[in-house]
Amino acid sequence: MDRIARRLFLQGLSSVAAAAGLSAPFQSAWAVEARRPAGPALPKPYTIVIDAGHGGVDPGCIGRVGTYEKDVVLDTALQLARQLEATKRYRIYLSRNSDKFVPLQERVIRARARTADLFLSVHADALPERTVRGASVFTLSEKASDREAAAVAERENRSDIVAGVNYTPDPQVNEILFDLARRETNNQSIQLAQQLVGELGRHVRLLPNTHRSAAFVVLKAPDIPSALVEIGCLSNHDEEAELRKGSYRSVVASALSKSVNTYFDMVARSGA
Ligand SMILES: [Zn+2]
Repeated sequence: MDRIARRLFLQGLSSVAAAAGLSAPFQSAWAVEARRPAGPALPKPYTIVIDAGHGGVDPGCIGRVGTYEKDVVLDTALQLARQLEATKRYRIYLSRNSDKFVPLQERVIRARARTADLFLSVHADALPERTVRGASVFTLSEKASDREAAAVAERENRSDIVAGVNYTPDPQVNEILFDLARRETNNQSIQLAQQLVGELGRHVRLLPNTHRSAAFVVLKAPDIPSALVEIGCLSNHDEEAELRKGSYRSVVASALSKSVNTYFDMVARSGA
């Protein structure tokens, strides 16, 4: 049933599916899917999960004038989803598309269930030093690249604790990270991070040490290239003011979108 509905929706025959009483599984609360018009078969689209951090009872970090991280990252993720959908190259899923709490491991499990080709987590940070500002990009490593990176991961991994979720390790997610598959995935994650740093740097301020690594729970899918972007520092007065503007978030989303496109150009060229 779901498969038939999915095919009809993918072929642009949503009215046929609706008349037949079929519901599209990807129209569930967390998913937004690019729709393609009927026509000749297109190459298989890449599947991307865009992960807006926090949500619901977990506001994430809070700026000096009360800006919630969960709000600015959701809007940025939605803008990014729209920009990527417009290219018609991808199947896009959002781990949340409203102000809803989703446990960290659940985000990874869902991305794996969708056999995602890429997982991009969008966050904003709050640093103890309020004069510091700029975007930064993280990939996974068991051992953090530096003390500050470890602190960022610790802040982001606290989400489930804030929401009172019992931490029950998922054996698939917590399998040994540094096997061959993990290493290959990590190489791809680093390539993605390099694109993100380069493109963000053309449009917004960056933290000096822009690409770092640490043990983020949401980056632990062993088979999905993944990165986490801190789009700015809500602890900095000026950057909080920027992040409150839809136009600024649009610039950020556009930089993220370009990075993803360039990354998949490279993947396509490599024949993957
Ligand atoms: Zn966050």
